[in-house]
Order: sequence, then C-alpha cells, then structure tokens
Amino acid sequence: MADINSPRPRFSEREASSIARKLYGIDAAAVGLTGERDQNFLLRDEPGQKFVLKIYNTTERKDVLDFQNRVLQHLAQALPGLLYPRVRTGLDGALTAEFEGGRGEIYLVRVLDFVPGVFLADASPHGAGLLRSIGRFMGRTDRALEGFTHPAMNRDLKWNPESGLGILAGFVENRAGTARGRLVEDFLRRFDDRVVPLLPKLRRSVIHNDANDYNILLRGAGTAGAEVAGIIDFGDMLRTWTVCEPAVAAAYAMLGKRDPVAAAVQVVAGYHEEYPLTAVELEVVYHFICLRLCMSVAISDEQYRRDPDNEYLKISEKPAWELLHRLANVRFAEETQKPPAAATFSKKEITEIRAKHTSAALSVSYKKPLQIVRGYMQYLYDERGREYLDAVNNVPHVGHCHPRVVEAAHQQASLLNTNTRYLNEKMALYTRRLCNKFPDPLSVCFLVCSGSEANDLALRLARAHTGHKDVIVLDGAYHGNLTSLVEISPYKFDGPGGSGAPDYVHKVDMPDTYRGTFRAGDPDAAAKYARQLGDVILKMENKGKRVAAFISEPLMGCAGQIVPPDGYLEDAYRYVRESGGVCIADEVQIGFGRVGSHFWGFETQGVVPDIVTLGKPIGNGFPLAAVITTPRVAASFETGMEYFNTYGGNPVSCAVGLAVLDVIEDEDLRQNASAVGAKLLDGLRRLMDKHGLIGDVRGKGLFTGVELVGSRETLTPAADEASLVVEKMKDRGILISVDGTLCNVLKIKPPMVFTAGNADHLVSTLDEVLTEGAG
Ligand code: PMP
Repeated sequence: MADINSPRPRFSEREASSIARKLYGIDAAAVGLTGERDQNFLLRDEPGQKFVLKIYNTTERKDVLDFQNRVLQHLAQALPGLLYPRVRTGLDGALTAEFEGGRGEIYLVRVLDFVPGVFLADASPHGAGLLRSIGRFMGRTDRALEGFTHPAMNRDLKWNPESGLGILAGFVENRAGTARGRLVEDFLRRFDDRVVPLLPKLRRSVIHNDANDYNILLRGAGTAGAEVAGIIDFGDMLRTWTVCEPAVAAAYAMLGKRDPVAAAVQVVAGYHEEYPLTAVELEVVYHFICLRLCMSVAISDEQYRRDPDNEYLKISEKPAWELLHRLANVRFAEETQKPPAAATFSKKEITEIRAKHTSAALSVSYKKPLQIVRGYMQYLYDERGREYLDAVNNVPHVGHCHPRVVEAAHQQASLLNTNTRYLNEKMALYTRRLCNKFPDPLSVCFLVCSGSEANDLALRLARAHTGHKDVIVLDGAYHGNLTSLVEISPYKFDGPGGSGAPDYVHKVDMPDTYRGTFRAGDPDAAAKYARQLGDVILKMENKGKRVAAFISEPLMGCAGQIVPPDGYLEDAYRYVRESGGVCIADEVQIGFGRVGSHFWGFETQGVVPDIVTLGKPIGNGFPLAAVITTPRVAASFETGMEYFNTYGGNPVSCAVGLAVLDVIEDEDLRQNASAVGAKLLDGLRRLMDKHGLIGDVRGKGLFTGVELVGSRETLTPAADEASLVVEKMKDRGILISVDGTLCNVLKIKPPMVFTAGNADHLVSTLDEVLTEGAG
C-alpha cells in the first residue's frame, strides 16, 4: 500500500527536465503540477508536444503502476475513440522507468501523453446532456474493462469502497455527539441495513474509481453539445463493486448543483445505457453515492486532524457536507433513485395515447404536464428523476408510498382479498378502531370505495331516516362525481357545463368571512350565515316541504379553503334538526387530523353530526371510504333492501385503513399538522406585508389557502396571477394548486409528514415567485 504519509518526492523543475531527457529521450522544459502523494510535471518539447512526467513517492509499488499501464494499453486498444492517457515507453523499453536518488532510494517514473481538453470543473453549465455523457463514458470504459485482470488489482487504498465502512465508523467514533458525527452515523446505519446484506449479489470488476471533475475532460465545453472526451488519473483504480463507478461519478456530479438528485440520475442513467446495471445494483447505487460522499468528508477530516493548519481541507469539503445535509433531509430519497430506464413510455407517447383513449373531460394539471413516476413521503419524482415537494396532495395523507401502508396492503393481498359477506377479522378490527375515533352516538360504519360513494350513501341514509328528499348545500361546495352528487354540488351545477340546481336542492351562502356577505369585522357573521338556513327551511315549509339533510364540509376545500366563523355549524345544525333534518359532515378532504387541533373538522365547530363521510386520506391513496352514523339513522336504513358493495370493506382495504391509523398515531401526525401548519400560516401571513397580491391567508393545520386579489379594497379576484404562481412554483419544484369559486385561491394541503423546513422552503419560494412578478 502506498503510504500517503511518506513525503512526496521533491525534485526541482530543472531536475525533472533532466530525468525526462535521461530516461525517455524527451528534450523538454518541465513545469510543476499538483499531486497528492507523487510529483507531477508538465513537459513541453520544442515542437510543442506535451507530456506529463510522474515521479512516484518511494513507497509506490511497481506492480500497481504496471496495473495502470496495462489498463491504459487495454483501453487505448479497445476504445480508440475515447481519450485516455497514453503511456510512453522509456529508453530501456519499459513502461515504468526508475532511477536512484541521492540517498540510494529508488524512484519509479512514468511519462504519459498530455490529454487535451477542458476540465469538467472549469466548464459550465453542467446540462443534462453533459451529465449523461459522464455516465456513458464511464459505462463504456467499464464495459471495456469487463473481465480484465491483473495481479495488483485487489489493492488496498484509502479510497477503496470496501474500507469505506471502517473509515466512517472511525469518523463517527471520533466525532461522537456532534451533528456531523450523527449525520454520518445515519448514512452508515442505512448502508448497513440496506446494502450490506446485498453485497454478495453485486458484480465486481476493475474500475477507475475517481471520476471527479478535475479528472474528466470535455470537448465542446460551454456549448449545448458539451460532452466527455476523456479521463485521466488512474491512480485510484482497483477491482471492487462495479456499481461504485457510476456512484463515484454521480457523487461528484451532484456537488454544488441546485437539483443534485436530477444530476445523479443523469449520470447513472448514462452509465446504465452503455453498461446496464443489474436490478440489485440499481437498488443500491444511491447508497454508494452517499458512501463516497461520506468517505470524502471523513478522509478530509482525518487529514485535517493531522494538519489542522490546512484551511483548504475545510473549505474543499464544504460542498460535500452541504450535499450530505440535503440528502439527509430529503428523507428516504434513496428510494427514488431509479434511473429513467424504468420509464418505458416517453411523455409524448403518453400524451398521444391519452388524447386518443382518455376523455378530454378529464384535464391534466400544468401547461407542461408532469410525468410522475415515483413518490416517497412528501416528495414526487418525474421521469428524469427531478424531485418535487408535494404541497397539494392530501390523499397520500401519511406520505406517498409510506412503507407501513405498502407493507400492510402487500401482506393482506398475499393472504386474502374478498368481500364482506364472510366474517373477517380485519374488517371487525378496522370498523371498531375507526368508530372509536368518533364521539357518541356515531358508532355504525359502512365501508365503501370513494368519497362519492360515501356521500351518495349518506344521502340515502338521510332520506330513509327522514322520509324527505330536499337537501341544503353551501354555495361553491363539491361533494362528488355521481349523478346524485353533481346535483347537490354548486361547484359543478353552477360551473361550466352545469345546468343549475334541481328543485330539491337549496343553496345558502358559504360562510366566507373574507369576501362573503358577512365579513370578519362582523361579530355576528356566524349567526347571520346560519340564519340563511333558517330562512330557507321556512320557505320550504311554507311550500309544504321538509328538509332531509344539510350537507357541508366543516372547512370547505374546493370552494377555496374556507374556514367558517366559530359557532356557525352549531347554529346551522340547530335549524336543520328543529325541522327534522339530519346533518351530514363531509370530511372527505379534511378528516384524519389535517386541521391539527382536532382529528375531525366538525370538532373545530363543537358539533356532532348525524352522518360523517370519509374518503381520500382514509386509505392513503387506496380506494377506501366510509360513512359513519348513529344507530338510529342506521336502523332507518334497514328496510329489507340490502346494502352490498363489492369492494367496500374488503380485507386489503381494512388492512390499509388500520395501517394509516397506526402511522397517524405513531408518528404523531396530527400534532405535526398543528405545529407545521401554524408555522406555515405564520410565514404566509408575513408575506402579506410585502405582496399586495395576497388578499387573505387562512386555514387550520395543514389545510391552507392564500387568496390572491388585484386590490385589497375591491377584492378583484386575481385568477390569472394565481395560475401563473402555481406554474412558477412547479418550475421551482413545489406543487400547489389553484381552486375556489373564482379560481384565485392557492391551495396548500400537503401530506401530513410535511416538515417545518418544507414550510420555510415553500414560503421563501412563494416570496421569490411573487417578487419576480406573477402578473
Ligand atoms: N367530498 C369532497 C369534499 C371532496 O373534495 C371530494 C373529492 N374532491 C369528494 C367528496 C368525492 O370524493 P371521490 O373523488 O373519492 O369520489
């Protein structure tokens, strides 16, 4: 093993020039170059030809240099189009020459042709094409080296990934109790858990092992066609796990990038194109990237401990530390690092198929639609591996693809999936657990498959119980896509393509204290809005009609994130009940702790509905929904006509529902929604001082709305600006949406694992977008 501590040779430029002449017959001026453990000189002869003279430190092994010489010869032959250093033969006919120093010590020497080109480090930008070409170049190199052997290839050196875990363990021990120690320990633990058991399955081969940006040379640097032309410095070469090659290249390519994950994906994908990785290698490549980054900071740290005056070591490791911090925060991003080879269809093909085989009644989000191929917790990844912070999808409540939910579905689907006409333990456990989340007397549960099915069933229950048909709804409300629900959803029947309210549906104002009839300054706003129900009921009764149900979301979603004033539902429910109607709370969007202070939205209003409908978050994306009601209402439905729902309540759904409840409790997600939601609201409200476009910021927990207006006096809805903000946020990697009856409310309702850091990031990005001008 070359001793990194043994002094570098110290020859002058004049001596170097004379060594070149004596051993190689090259008559050239020598200029010193950098070298970590050896001495390197640039030689330029009279005709202008350039070479690199390398004088090795005296502990360097001759067989290791021979290993490098053989590899370079092999590559020059196998890949004549790619640039690798060519090794010059000395006057004695050997590829490695030697001479004796003043104290009898033997120095080994090599001369290589100078490889022209611009270093990757000196080129910008590092576009996707260039990054991919790094991977492709390394892939071609490694494919050419497949099966190559040499007696010195199993080298021990500090950059050997197989010593990596030991190096990291040493670092963790030396830096115990520090933030950096904990960070590296975390990566080490993940590597131990997820990669170590798979190591025997990984291919091994000879690799370059150091594709950093000072070793990679480009052609066409600075142009759109920039690509890798060559690579130098084979000093860290060895035989190890093949996957380390793209991992090392990706680790360096990520440094200092705005979107490091996307950069890594390009490098890995390029490698995969030329020299396909196995499924196991794809699974672990991300961990090897982290391993290399950790090794880099740990090795520098060790050098720094020995040489504390070397400030350069500290500075040079800064980008690697920054990157490691980001990768640790992007929790579990490793799960997503599959190269795009996994996406078989291009965006264009998908769009064409969709245009032909999917109705245009279903629109796609964003001007340039997203192709999302993977999700993990609060992050989504597109086909190129770009990461998006998901601040809009409330369905993946506990996080996209939460492992416990996925595992529960997998386990139960492998065991049994059938209907509810058999006794099933999962269904029993789930209905009991779910009902226990409600105040008395809500204790009877119907399991269905969508929010719409739940609301349709709720209407049937209300009608069976009251014997009446008429329904009171809030203006702007949406309750589902079935015929029965489009008919009670002003959001639909008053919107494009709608045909108005049927005669049995009665609208009242939504309790919007920002732009509604009764506003925040009015202390009686709640009572006044509720009074409208009393008025409607009176008119109905005058016509000899009675109300079957009042259905409302306790906080309104599609209508524009409306939070009713305190006391509203209490009054409204009283009017309805006095007339014999039942009160339905649609918790499809807002239930399961999203509002932070309570588990259910209706609890924020201090009421107990007669029927509650649940959907979306209940199954974390799995088609599960429910209706919860009282024994009395349920009894009215037992008319002899059965209620059977083929998929509703199947054991897989129930297993998923149980896992969702487990995660909400174990990860304390309601509390998280409360804390992070408060921080988010606070940050958004502070933006109001700076941006006149923001008319109102409202919400509870992680259910938030930002209403944009042209003027705070006239409240002109700024709908175009709102759409533009959504597009610009997306361009910056954050997904939100726009909704509301006037299409001017930014909706923020992320998965409940959203962190305080995510909230800060969202607020500062929105600040940036608004500063840039949303007009
Ligand atoms: N109720 C509310 C409040 C909703 O927001 C939705 C869906 N947006 C539904 C019901 C209908 O749910 P689903 O799409 O699962 O049928």
